[in-house]
Amino acid sequence: METKGHLVCPVCGKTYPEEVAASQCVCGNYLDLAYSFTPQKADFPDTSPQGQSSFLRYRSVLPLSNPQEALGFNESFTPLLKTTWDGQTVHLKLDYLLASGSFKDRGAFVLINKCRELGIKSIVVDSSGNSACSASAYSALAGIEAHIYMPAGNSSGKTRQVSAYGAKLYKIPGSRLDTAKAAEKATKDHYYAAHTRNPYFLHGTKTAAYELMEQLDWEVPEAVFIPVGSGSLLLGMYLGFTEMKNAGLIDRYPRLMAVQSEHCNPIRTALDMYANAAPGTNITAADLMATLPPAPTGTILPEGIANSHPTRIDQIVRALHQTKGDVLVVTDKEVVEALRTATSRGLYIEPTSASALAALKHYKSTANHSEDPQGHLVVMLTGHGLKAAERIEEILEHT
Ligand SMILES: *Cc1c(COP(=O)(O)O)cnc(C)c1O
Ligand SMILES: [Zn+2]
Repeated sequence: METKGHLVCPVCGKTYPEEVAASQCVCGNYLDLAYSFTPQKADFPDTSPQGQSSFLRYRSVLPLSNPQEALGFNESFTPLLKTTWDGQTVHLKLDYLLASGSFKDRGAFVLINKCRELGIKSIVVDSSGNSACSASAYSALAGIEAHIYMPAGNSSGKTRQVSAYGAKLYKIPGSRLDTAKAAEKATKDHYYAAHTRNPYFLHGTKTAAYELMEQLDWEVPEAVFIPVGSGSLLLGMYLGFTEMKNAGLIDRYPRLMAVQSEHCNPIRTALDMYANAAPGTNITAADLMATLPPAPTGTILPEGIANSHPTRIDQIVRALHQTKGDVLVVTDKEVVEALRTATSRGLYIEPTSASALAALKHYKSTANHSEDPQGHLVVMLTGHGLKAAERIEEILEHT
């Protein structure tokens, strides 16, 4: 059964009605949604009604009060492509084909429609790119004013896309953290809709897990490879798998493999901290944040996963423990190789996306790996290459 209508702090337990539109708890922690959904297969009819987004197929598990009123782009299932990679059979989920060109449309769909339900007229987002594109696209559709804070120097394709949608763009010099600080000031006047923290966003990205299970005819894959910055896709998919597991639709979790860059891998650091802590030690997100290395300087090839301090880091670590997952760290060289192979096969994805493909060859070396993979390996292809066309040209021609 679902308990509708409030936000809850997983640290101190304080609750907030949805109407308050709180962006964080008074104790400083992020908030989650106190919904508990029990999906049934009968909730997902054979076909989605004409002219309706396929996200609404999962309306019984979406935190929307009036899903029939939701605005979208009549999104449909993203393709699941079976192919071989490094001699292994893999399934590629082409989420870069969503309306604004990345998986973040899933999160923005629920987030912006919730804003409509709450009567919110303006939002603020700090983003390295794609989540700003998604928020701006859905805001344009919904007539909501979007204020976007971006680090100066990020892929210009994404910046242009945001401006074209009519969002107000603020380019902040300095680090990713400086961008976050500038955006925080703006939250006094506008609803804070950042994918790094907003709980509605995760209830949107979980549709990727539901779609995947339907496409695999409910056969649980062995592992899902997900590029992780703030963890919104990983945590959303974990949420979806948890709901399906609790409802008895699946009997186990796939291993969630978090892919990070050699230049920025806080989840690796966090896993190692847990592994080295005395048994029973309670490590909080704040403890982790305090010990993580500072943000690296300079541009990072997989820019979409360059988040040195993910807000939900404790949840990400728990999701990896629960699913017997792991962190796979890839080098720039491996990302370039994967990008070259992907584009040569007609898959035009951005470098961040290619990192997940690059991680495939590291899979066999992970802890908990069975000698003989028992099931499907799924790779999430998260972002469209057209957003980073110049960079891709540069990389493929000069490295
Ligand atoms: C945002 C993004 C990611 C990572 O998502 P997080 O929610 O930050 O973990 C991965 N790939 C692409 C293309 C992205 O835009
Ligand atoms: Zn709290």
